[in-house]
Amino acid sequence: MANIVAIVGRPNVGKSTLFNRLTDSRKAIVDSESGVTRDRHYGKSEWNGMEFSVIDTGGYVKGSDDLFEGEIRKQVQLAIDEANVILFVLDVADGIVDDDKVVANILRKCKKKVFLVSNKVDNFVRQGLSGEFYALGLGEPYNVSAISGSGTGELLDEVVKALDADIKIDELDIPKFAIVGRPNVGKSSLINTLLGIERNIVTPIAGTTRDSINTRYNSFGHDFLLIDTAGIRKKSKVEEDLEFYSVMRSIRAIEDCDVILLLIDATLGLEAQDINIFHLAEKNRKGIVIVVNKWDLVEKTTNSTKEYEEKIREKLAPFRDVPIVFTSALTKQRVLKAIEVAEKVNVNRVQSIKTRALNDIMLPIVENQPPAAIKGKHVKIKFITQLPTHAPTFAFYCNLPQYVTESYIRFLENRMREEFDFTGVPIQIFMRKK
Ligand code: GDP
Ligand code: GDP
Repeated sequence: MANIVAIVGRPNVGKSTLFNRLTDSRKAIVDSESGVTRDRHYGKSEWNGMEFSVIDTGGYVKGSDDLFEGEIRKQVQLAIDEANVILFVLDVADGIVDDDKVVANILRKCKKKVFLVSNKVDNFVRQGLSGEFYALGLGEPYNVSAISGSGTGELLDEVVKALDADIKIDELDIPKFAIVGRPNVGKSSLINTLLGIERNIVTPIAGTTRDSINTRYNSFGHDFLLIDTAGIRKKSKVEEDLEFYSVMRSIRAIEDCDVILLLIDATLGLEAQDINIFHLAEKNRKGIVIVVNKWDLVEKTTNSTKEYEEKIREKLAPFRDVPIVFTSALTKQRVLKAIEVAEKVNVNRVQSIKTRALNDIMLPIVENQPPAAIKGKHVKIKFITQLPTHAPTFAFYCNLPQYVTESYIRFLENRMREEFDFTGVPIQIFMRKK
């Protein structure tokens, strides 16, 4: 179930400052090493044990210092479509300006929970000024200073309560697959091919958003929910918008699903935007299948699939253990195969490994190649267990967890991938003090 908080408001009120405060920029979704542009407008946050995503919708609009009213409207409408909770940021020093009224008018009509955030309340004197914002008809303003962080705790207390109440998607106990990818890669075609195979065995289920329809496929031993992000094409004309919509829609779909099928266009290869989506799914610890669609358009040589796979894996490093399927939605080649691979990834993701087996296999590996001693101190790993989380997470208990390096953890992960089947699944390894 997705928990999405969107930040809206006109330029310069402090949206991105608030965003950074809520998300802790060190946990930005894309790491700098991969060479991919960091997506600073989307991040994960947690408060009182509740995890949620934060989107700074302002960050997606170019030249945002001089926004046209239409742009603001679009931005706010997107937030309404995609988010569970909306933070409407205002600048207490400016009071209410015309653009604020535009935003307020749209938000008053929406059914989502809206919080008025009176920002730049840096001192006691400014607290009194927030009263003006009641006039917007959106309830009580929350006084915060995004720069210092004051007031954000009180705001978050209420935000997570609202998120809690909003969890209502029917928790169908079947795997949920999201079909994601840039515009024109063939998402609609793939879904049509898939559903066309047996039209009468699919049941449309009302989507959470206006035009994404989730579909249950239940036959021939398959039972899964397809989360479709294809409907975004018709809504926008400009390239920039298209990207914006597809990112927003993808974020939502990724949150809702167990496994993503990331479609790429075989004639274009894996591009920066695809890698962004890939990392998004990885950070959310969802299963991943790469689907190279339009394979019919590629001239084949004896090694073309192998070479193609290698090229993709290079760009995905370090998380290379991902299945890659070559499809053609047009000729219907391997479309069902893509689904079967997703089903296997889902199995890999929900597996729980017996503590006994885990220790029998991994402890000898650790003994054979223990962590390097640091400053004369030897790390001894004594016991390993899988934690009861929704995605594979393992705790290695040892005497000196702080001395275990990232590269040793990477080594453990690689060995675990060799010994067990975690293909397509991000795994987490923690060192814990015994
Ligand atoms: P955005 O365009 O809405 O994303 O706004 P920014 O986050 O870029 O902030 C606009 C300006 O307001 C920047 O100069 C910030 O440093 C400043 N600002 C943001 N939050 C606060 C705050 O709580 N107090 C003060 N005094 N300035 C702030
Ligand atoms: P979406 O925007 O990702 O939903 O992409 P569409 O399904 O609308 O496909 C975009 C274009 O690519 C359409 O003209 C499709 O006919 C074409 N297309 C989709 N899949 C394939 C494929 O496997 N092979 C070829 N040759 N064309 C495809």
